Amino acid sequence: MSRGVDLHLHSTCSDGVLSPTALVELLAASAVGVFALTDHDTVAGQAEAAAAAVRHGLTCLTGIELSARWRGGTVHVVGLGIDPSSPGIRAAVALRRDLRQARVRSIAERLDRAGAPGGEVLARLATEETPTRTHVARALVELGAAADIPAAFHRWLGRGKPAHVAAEWPELDATVADIVGAGGAAVLAHPLRYTLSAGQRRTLAAGFRAAGGAALEVVTGGSAAHQIETALGLALRAGLEGSVGSDCHDPSLPWHRPGRLAKLPEAVVPVWKRWELATLRSLEA
Ligand code: AMP
Ligand code: MN
Ligand code: MN
Ligand code: MN
Repeated sequence: MSRGVDLHLHSTCSDGVLSPTALVELLAASAVGVFALTDHDTVAGQAEAAAAAVRHGLTCLTGIELSARWRGGTVHVVGLGIDPSSPGIRAAVALRRDLRQARVRSIAERLDRAGAPGGEVLARLATEETPTRTHVARALVELGAAADIPAAFHRWLGRGKPAHVAAEWPELDATVADIVGAGGAAVLAHPLRYTLSAGQRRTLAAGFRAAGGAALEVVTGGSAAHQIETALGLALRAGLEGSVGSDCHDPSLPWHRPGRLAKLPEAVVPVWKRWELATLRSLEA
């Protein structure tokens, strides 16, 4: 039986609900053979994921999902095969941790002004190294200020809502350079999820390639067939390779469940080819 590839996953080290170890147990039970843990702006879970992968006989690539700015908006870049202890990654992580900690304080102030329990949210996130809006959303749900996470974004945290705070992430080109400098391959994450026109999306993909980007996420969690076709066309046109990742945060949400992703279309070179993964070949044989 062939085992799958999933190169975009979250753990409790960012805004996922499973520890790296529990995530790897789920992957092993879900016929995933090759994976990367790609938490937002942190590599804190890498060692634990690698150790669990060894125990379960899975192939683990190092990974991260870096927040970046392109034309004033936010885009996400997955870095695969990076050296997590390289100076470039350390600096990229430290910068974003500081931005995130400042942003969460600013979000809390806005929540308080809007009549939501911002101070209590902040107290609950005090020990969080790399707080995301998902953490804020979960705290709001626990405090009874929203019914569920999507509702917390809809009411408080999303763009145009009372506690929305735009983050000044480092630029896309610099973000790609940090990943390449750390020996990794940069992948433009979930390319159809940004609020961009088709033309802007093509410009983004071309600019990403020109900056040294390697691949585009052609298959992501919940992708419909026509979306895979669109993303494939975008990758081929820009001369980018293809990647596959569920972006799983919570396996109880069915569209997120790893091990159920469509295969990468054969028309595009898989980004993981470069690592000549012996294990991958034997798993796919
Ligand atoms: P941040 O990087 O702190 O801005 O947080 C972004 C994260 O929030 C994303 O990675 C998603 O996991 C989550 N997120 C963003 N928008 C929504 C939404 N509308 N509903 C649920 N989760 C969301
Ligand atoms: Mn997230
Ligand atoms: Mn993302
Ligand atoms: Mn993600």
